[in-house]
Amino acid sequence: MKPSEVPLEPPPRASRKAHSVVIVNTGDGKGKSTAAFGTALRAVARGWKVCVIQFVKSERWKVGEREIAMRLGVEWWTLGDGFTWDSRDMDRSQAVAREAWRVAREKIESGDYGLVVLDEVTYPMTWGWIPTHEVVSAIRSRPPAVNLIATGRDAPAELTELADTVTEMRNQKHAFDRGVRAIRGIDF
Ligand code: ATP
Ligand code: MG
Repeated sequence: MKPSEVPLEPPPRASRKAHSVVIVNTGDGKGKSTAAFGTALRAVARGWKVCVIQFVKSERWKVGEREIAMRLGVEWWTLGDGFTWDSRDMDRSQAVAREAWRVAREKIESGDYGLVVLDEVTYPMTWGWIPTHEVVSAIRSRPPAVNLIATGRDAPAELTELADTVTEMRNQKHAFDRGVRAIRGIDF
């Protein structure tokens, strides 16, 4: 039987309940990270262990959501803190991004977390700092109960193909375009 001839019957009801899902928030509009953090709140509310890893260092070192998430017991890693690297042949930023990815992979593979958020992970992937195939394969072979959210513009096709849910935030307009600077309490 050719693939096109396989009857398109819905799977039995029970098998539709996924053990976990992969969510990608991408696009050029505002809301990718905040939607991920909102979901993290839901996960905390259900008693899950949650880990957030931020792959791009914020200019405003401590974003407010980090502060509150840590008070709620979320494990939160931001580039620069706690990461070490040992590399002579790599640019420092790349080495730190790779180290962040090493930590992230460890967290995913541990199976200890109900939700792992890879915030802004698409950027080091696009820049070639962390190999897309490595990220994709770690996500694909994750322990079955680990849900995962990846955020950032220009999500690579390999990542969106693997994801269960992909949302593209489309920028209609942003206050920044008319000169409004980032607002504490709204943007960080
Ligand atoms: P947020 O963290 O607010 O959900 P985001 O994750 O979708 O934003 P990033 O690209 O990570 O977007 O943006 C980092 C910062 O830039 C945030 O302070 C965000 O508010 C701001 N920002 C997001 N989208 C835009 C845009 N289209 N124009 C200008 N600034 C933006
Ligand atoms: Mg973001």
